[in-house]
Amino acid sequence: MNTPRTFKIKGMHCASCAGIIEKTFKKVEGVTLAEVNYGTESAKVSFDENKTNPQALSETIQPLGYSLIIETDRADHGGNHMGANSQKEEKLLELAAMKNQVFSSIPIALISAFVMSWDILASFNKIPKMSYFWSEFFHHLLPIMATYILFVVGKPYLKGFYRFLRYGKANMDTLIGIGTSAAFLYSFVVSAFEESLEPYINVENTYYDVTIIVIVFIALGKYLEAQSKLKTGDAIEKLLNMQAKTALVIRKGKEMEIPIDQVVHGELIIVKPAGKIPVDGIITEGSSYIDESMLTGEPMPVKKTIGDAIAAGTMNTSGSFTFKATKVGSETMIARIIKMVEEAQGSKAPIQALADKISSVFVPIVLILAFVDLGVWLTVGTSYIGFSQALSYGLVSFVGILVIACPCALGLATPTAIIVGVGKGAREGILIKDAATLEKLYKVTDVVVDKTGTITKGKPELTSIQNLSKKSDNELIALLASLENKSEHPIAHAITTHAKEKNLSLSAVEHFEIIKGKGLKGSINSIEYFVGNAKLMDDIKLSFEKKSIEKETLEGKTPIMIATKNELLGIIMVADAIKPEAVEAVARLHELGIKVTMLTGDNKNTAAFIAKQVGIDEVVSEVMPEDKLKTIKALQAQGKIVAMAGDGVNDAPALAQADVGIAMATGTDVAIESAGITLLNGDISKLEKAISLSKMTMRGIKQNLFWAFFYNVVGIPLAGGAFFPFFGWMLSPVFAGLAMAFSSVSVVGNSLRIKTKKL
Ligand code: ADP
Ligand code: MG
Repeated sequence: MNTPRTFKIKGMHCASCAGIIEKTFKKVEGVTLAEVNYGTESAKVSFDENKTNPQALSETIQPLGYSLIIETDRADHGGNHMGANSQKEEKLLELAAMKNQVFSSIPIALISAFVMSWDILASFNKIPKMSYFWSEFFHHLLPIMATYILFVVGKPYLKGFYRFLRYGKANMDTLIGIGTSAAFLYSFVVSAFEESLEPYINVENTYYDVTIIVIVFIALGKYLEAQSKLKTGDAIEKLLNMQAKTALVIRKGKEMEIPIDQVVHGELIIVKPAGKIPVDGIITEGSSYIDESMLTGEPMPVKKTIGDAIAAGTMNTSGSFTFKATKVGSETMIARIIKMVEEAQGSKAPIQALADKISSVFVPIVLILAFVDLGVWLTVGTSYIGFSQALSYGLVSFVGILVIACPCALGLATPTAIIVGVGKGAREGILIKDAATLEKLYKVTDVVVDKTGTITKGKPELTSIQNLSKKSDNELIALLASLENKSEHPIAHAITTHAKEKNLSLSAVEHFEIIKGKGLKGSINSIEYFVGNAKLMDDIKLSFEKKSIEKETLEGKTPIMIATKNELLGIIMVADAIKPEAVEAVARLHELGIKVTMLTGDNKNTAAFIAKQVGIDEVVSEVMPEDKLKTIKALQAQGKIVAMAGDGVNDAPALAQADVGIAMATGTDVAIESAGITLLNGDISKLEKAISLSKMTMRGIKQNLFWAFFYNVVGIPLAGGAFFPFFGWMLSPVFAGLAMAFSSVSVVGNSLRIKTKKL
């Protein structure tokens, strides 16, 4: 398997470019996957390193006017995201150049528009004809201006035309190139041979103004589009800016400031008041309140003291402390989040497949259509309105079709909305793995939640001990804690913490084994012990009075039994507090019409108590991990779309089976790669926000697609003159250019709207 690599691409102007590059890459030997995204102007390629390389790939697309940006230094320590900033600078320069050109050509377009309007109004006798002097003046000025516009501002389109002639590859630049040069050439021939052509055609009709106005409109549209597109990527930029540039480390007993990419594991770092945390780590000295809002969306600063984990990119408030670096460079949570957001923004939503297919066949079809249309005017049209008139209309239609039919808006519809949606999520502490997940989320009908760590805090505390053995309470707890010390379960944590607080010393455990969904076993001093739930007691055939635990389980506490093979030694109760936000989170899901089911391996009474407190619709308790998976499958079999939220540890199979897997990230230890969606801070109330975000983004995409299709469906026949015989309607190529430019700009603008909407 070749792991895919993502490259930025230079020279992409439109959606059809994506298709052309994809096809070209797929033809290269050794390439197994090629996905090109117009929204992010990037390509994801998997290839056999023995057969080809990035340089060779870039060379295959260079004749077509594109190239890959190959990062030579793929350093893994921090520096790898600096590239994004310089790329942005390059984009800004490009934008500035575009701006100059566009703004210098606007006066030219205005003059042409003025002459054009005058002529039109005069032909309807609304205003007097232009005087001979002015008419002659413009007659000579227009060709000069058109030459400048076509050959300078319109150079990319001429290049597109050239590539079409040379390589047979057509993109949207080709369409505009052919259209505008046809208008120019025709006009040029008419001007040059005015006298000899006079008997055959109306030599008054030239189309320099069409060439000028169409190119200027499109260039203006492209400029506005590029400007807004840059804004869609804001989220990544904000994340990048969150990273500190330097760290104050202690080396050889001395404080020194070094760039963050030189920080190594285990190094001690000092954070001053109002300083940024440079890398991930654990506090070793001092304490402070830390503002983690940039990472989690949580506005309140969180108190952190010795032993607490802190994350790079977050902000210290007023305290001062020292911490040990545990994760540096690309391992830090923020680096992983940036990578994930970038990848998600570049991924393709399934809904885009249709748009892609259409844009890839669009250009050739439109070319054919335009020629057919011209042919119809020249044959059928000639017999009704005479040759001269038909030629003039035919030419106008030809240019109009080519100009209006650009699939640009179609190509922008999906990716721009995805970029904005994913970015917005990241700023709210909702990390989305890919576009497909975002597309699926809003369809969810059922949410299945894990109890521990999702609905409850996942930090249970020991509440009572029922000692049935001859040992003292402390001896029993020490025994239990020794066994639990090897388990990662939150319950184990409750018990070991309790033992630590009491300063109990632990014994060595042998033959330790986790019994999935039930508890654990292990030997101390050659005596085998079992720790776990009622099921485990049933397994070893130890009967006990279930009544003795009923009262407390009904209050939401979890019983833990400790026993030898033939004797129950004690029952320990632990209680896990409900997350304060859980109640509201469930209520909000209900408002969206979503059913909430809680799944847990815990005791039935305990689970029922908690479910009732939170308002959960259904509870499935005392389940084994594999039954969690079955529950999800059963719901899916009923045609439900299921999202599963869990801590991602023993819930991994269920998370994978669900249509959307949602991981609750706690602290800085995030398994962000594993689930479709990760909710930072383990905040379940973000789930409803994530669903709303998905709805919002999908609505945006659908509106975009509708408008993009609408423009073309109405615009092409209108431009082609299909309505002319019936209503006398013709679309001037000038308006075609305006419509085309407007469609792209409005699509990007609509996507940007998602950013400002409230979740
Ligand atoms: P859940 O994630 O819903 O808690 P688990 O499968 O992790 O489900 O655990 C199911 C049950 O098994 C727990 O409720 C508890 O009764 C028992 N159990 C699991 N691990 C331990 C442990 N380390 N110590 C005691 N009991 C445990
Ligand atoms: Mg669990």
